[in-house]
Amino acid sequence: MAIPYGFEKMASGNVRMVAPEIGVVQRIYQRYVDGASLGGIAAQLEADKVVAPSSKDKWSRSVIDKILSNGKYVPYAIPMELFVAVQFEKESRSNIQTNNDGSMQRKTTRYSSQNVLSGLLVCAECGSNYRRITKPSSEVVWRCSDRVENGKRSVCKHSPTITDINIKALISEKLALTVFDEETVRRKLSHILVKSNRQIDIAYSRGLALHL
Ligand SMILES: [Zn+2]
Repeated sequence: MAIPYGFEKMASGNVRMVAPEIGVVQRIYQRYVDGASLGGIAAQLEADKVVAPSSKDKWSRSVIDKILSNGKYVPYAIPMELFVAVQFEKESRSNIQTNNDGSMQRKTTRYSSQNVLSGLLVCAECGSNYRRITKPSSEVVWRCSDRVENGKRSVCKHSPTITDINIKALISEKLALTVFDEETVRRKLSHILVKSNRQIDIAYSRGLALHL
């Protein structure tokens, strides 16, 4: 993965944000929560002749989507509340399907047959989902999918790998449950942000009762 849009690499090897591009990122986030579509935002940026992240690229739905998923902008350019609001919005839009007659309805199989935590755990560092991995020892752990897929080339550097047992204990503690209860988690939670200090922040399904 290349350096995310809005950052530049310094001689020291560290990255820093670049002012005009960060303004573009903020505009993208704001327009999305205001209801603009990915395609609509891309078209507007093209129309305004804003230079795309890669000079050979155009602004596209996937470029916008990637920026909207990148937790690296939090909290310096994008406040955590706005980032979480965008993740809510993305999820609720992806749960709407358009029927052949043009009407829209909510998809019923939100969690399908997957593990209850799949799609719920989000990496606070890069915004990727956490993935469930069964080790050869049969121990189950959760790890940021950017790091799983990109190894040393990942944007994400510090996100922790957490055992299934530990993450369930943390969630139970936050929800004041004596034992981990899938049904409660399914019903109450929208997202769980996994932070680099191995702590979690929980976003609830109803309203924006954030405990950040
Ligand atoms: Zn990550």
